[in-house]
Amino acid sequence: MTMNASLSAANTPNPHSQEFISAVKNWVDQHFSGIVTDLCQLVTYRSLAFDGYDRAPLESSAAAVAELFENLGFKQVHQLTETNSDGEQSGPAIIARSPAQGDKPTVLLYAHHDVQPVGDCEAWETDPWVATEKSGRLYGRGTADDKAGIVVHHAAIRALQELLGDDHGLGVTVFIEGEEEVGSPFFAQFLQEHQQLLAADTIIVADSANWSVEIPALTTSLRGLLDGVIEVTVTEHPVHSGLFGGPVLDANTILARIIANLHTADGDVAIPGLDQTRWAEVAYDEEEYRQQIGAVQGLELAGTGGLADRLWNKPALNIIGVDTTSIAESSNSIVHTARAKFSMRLGPGMDPQHAMDTLTAHVQNTPAFGATVAVHPGEQGKPFVVEATSQASAMMKQALSEAWGTDAIETGMGGSIPFVADLVEAFPNASILLTGIEDPDTKAHSPNESLDLSVLRHAIEAEILLLARMALDHVE
Ligand SMILES: [Zn+2]
Repeated sequence: MTMNASLSAANTPNPHSQEFISAVKNWVDQHFSGIVTDLCQLVTYRSLAFDGYDRAPLESSAAAVAELFENLGFKQVHQLTETNSDGEQSGPAIIARSPAQGDKPTVLLYAHHDVQPVGDCEAWETDPWVATEKSGRLYGRGTADDKAGIVVHHAAIRALQELLGDDHGLGVTVFIEGEEEVGSPFFAQFLQEHQQLLAADTIIVADSANWSVEIPALTTSLRGLLDGVIEVTVTEHPVHSGLFGGPVLDANTILARIIANLHTADGDVAIPGLDQTRWAEVAYDEEEYRQQIGAVQGLELAGTGGLADRLWNKPALNIIGVDTTSIAESSNSIVHTARAKFSMRLGPGMDPQHAMDTLTAHVQNTPAFGATVAVHPGEQGKPFVVEATSQASAMMKQALSEAWGTDAIETGMGGSIPFVADLVEAFPNASILLTGIEDPDTKAHSPNESLDLSVLRHAIEAEILLLARMALDHVE
């Protein structure tokens, strides 16, 4: 496939020219305050898809998103909720669609309108539901993750209409999900039931992070995820530690020995067969990392290899919860059963099922004094890697570089976005681009989440450039 920038009509702009890039920047300049106002409006909705939260604001949020795209003149705007066989409902999603003309390509623009709970209200310096600007950043829950993604898509489509005319012909489908933060449980069902509506040549997922405020990034790998529970039982019931203790180790101690055996002395994951297949191009700054995690004085970092590789390309394994007798409930008896939940991140090229099998075998082979040890598998999500040779990713990197005025880099992301694997499976021939409006200071999911407004501006410019080139370039 080669790109040809030659244009048929004399009055059609050349989307690669300096003039066009300037026109795009001017357009964003002129409309920026209105775009920020749209974002502030979306932030007012407490759009939580978690169980136990009022669903009404989530529905209102979906309606507000639908209205934004109706106002762009989209003829087809669907507000959709899936239901499973247990009668459970998905978060409300929006699909807005404008079909391609002739043989022009179609792009699917993804973001999500649901957000994380605000957590500790005391820790917020501003009202999380009132977007507040301070020193060039917009604070509030969802300002970055991922309501900014919605306004980036919205602004880019509007700019395309105004700069190229309504008949630009590019097929545009917008998919704004309403349950990403709860793990997109209905995503595969959405894709299956609306495959026709959602089919696209290129998919832009605006839900990731940039390397810094000054340096844009295209996320080209995501770690996979699996979790499960290790359960240890030593006796049928608790027994008195004075009368019976000595010849029997309690379940906590055996569980601790099993957990200790999950890592090598260096702190690398000790599960065999999880080989690294990709190496990071950039160096992650150790001091910055220590600061981001709030490392205590003297903490030694675990694992071997580059820090970026340990964050993106190697497996990582953590114990995220333990069920045992609490200290308050403890008595002089031998704890007979204990459980630990593990969460494991997988680098590109690692298969979740294989990892679960080898982890289970490793746990079962750990000496445990013959205690009954069970591993109960939980969720799984595959890692994701963008083909380095993809034409769409080269176009996106170019557009990001022009918008920021500095070269875009490729990064991995330590987090997992399980639905990305669903997208790859449903649309194996589509190019998937992970862009984003976050930066290292965004604090998504935490108190004082914020968005850098210059990043928002550049993200919109980059998306306009990419969409215009997709609309006007002749793809052979
Ligand atoms: Zn997100």
